[in-house]
Amino acid sequence: MTNPSRVARPKSAAAFERATRSIPGGVNSPARAFGGVGGTPIIVKRADGPYLFDVDGYRYLDFIGSWGPMILGHRHPAVVEATIAAINNGSSYGAPCELETELAEMVVAAIPSVEMVRFVSSGTEATMSAIRLARGFTGRDLIVKFAGCYHGHVDSLLVSAGSSALTLGVPNSPGVPKGCTQDTLILQYNDVQELADFFAAKGGQIAGVILEPVVGNMGLIPPSAEFRKELRRLTHHHGSVLIYDEVMTGFRLSYGGAQELFGDTPDVTALGKIIGGGYPVGAYGGRADILKKVMPAGPVFQAGTLSGNPVAMAAGIATLRELKQNPPYQRLDQLTQQIATGITAAAKQYGHAHQLQRIGSMWTLFFANAPVTNYQTAVASDKQKFARFFWEMMDRGVYLPCSQFEAAFTCAAMTDEHLQETITAASDSLRAMAQ
Ligand code: PLP
Repeated sequence: MTNPSRVARPKSAAAFERATRSIPGGVNSPARAFGGVGGTPIIVKRADGPYLFDVDGYRYLDFIGSWGPMILGHRHPAVVEATIAAINNGSSYGAPCELETELAEMVVAAIPSVEMVRFVSSGTEATMSAIRLARGFTGRDLIVKFAGCYHGHVDSLLVSAGSSALTLGVPNSPGVPKGCTQDTLILQYNDVQELADFFAAKGGQIAGVILEPVVGNMGLIPPSAEFRKELRRLTHHHGSVLIYDEVMTGFRLSYGGAQELFGDTPDVTALGKIIGGGYPVGAYGGRADILKKVMPAGPVFQAGTLSGNPVAMAAGIATLRELKQNPPYQRLDQLTQQIATGITAAAKQYGHAHQLQRIGSMWTLFFANAPVTNYQTAVASDKQKFARFFWEMMDRGVYLPCSQFEAAFTCAAMTDEHLQETITAASDSLRAMAQ
């Protein structure tokens, strides 16, 4: 495919071509391959504050932030310092260290529903372990997930998944046997009636319900208050475990995540991204009576060679400490609100049907006629138009998620100047698209 960009990036092109010879598709995670927008990815050389720099020497304002973790921006001095100090004490022990307890205590203090927490090495491991725990705790098999929510590449959750599975139009991957997904039941996000009907029919067999409490993986979709309330009421009534997948929203929408923002109390929470400060960390935590079923405290097996890795723990501690001591949330909310207002005004001015959906520092510009509330309305948006917008922004130095079905993230290293740059780039892009 010809690259839709007007800017030549010969070094990126060559480096990507080289990568395709030894790495499937040239990338180690599919969303990075630009499948949703066409063309080939930039190859990153380094990152600093709100910026990414590619191998051709171009600079981009980074609204991906490694798909969420870099809420403080890249190379935050406190995180760099803590990480180097940890490395100097050895990279991995395979034995307990105090940094694990320190981060666990910070997570427990931040999220009231989390009384105990177990660290793993990715968000996928966190959700995978959370559903195993829900099944082990209840002695039931059925798991409910919502169409378009993405919970990592766990076999049993890779049905009607969002993120790259949705972008690439592969909701069910070859290699996932029917047996793995037959106990995963798919409902529509925000559909209260369907939820109530389903629980009325099958409530006693449902081990757990997993959801993104604010969806980022179909683009940004907020939950309705009624949907959240019914979920809590029904799961409680039927003895099913309510699992909030806060891998993306945890420490992002507020220090205590989406559940703090809404005042919700799930039974189990999956975490990742920000808690590792840019290093591979995931976690699942929740009610102590449930978490005490995890081995070796209980019988539900879960393990990991690098779980609780000291370097990753140190980066997570430094990140959370900074977020606690200098909370960026209000400023991020205001900054993102202004970006949203600016882009909305330009989209209106140049006559593009659009919905700018946002909560705090997470946002998506959908090219759609009506509010996007679930999978069906998300896939109805104009992906080609989004692809054009993506490249117009890219060529103006603004790096957005390379899919209509991903949320953009504003980071704390961004200033009013970056905000103006973004609005100007968006306005120029949307004008160019109208011509
Ligand atoms: N859950 C959610 C909500 C996510 O957004 C992601 C990744 O984007 C995951 C789980 C999987 O996390 P990881 O990619 O670290 O395995």
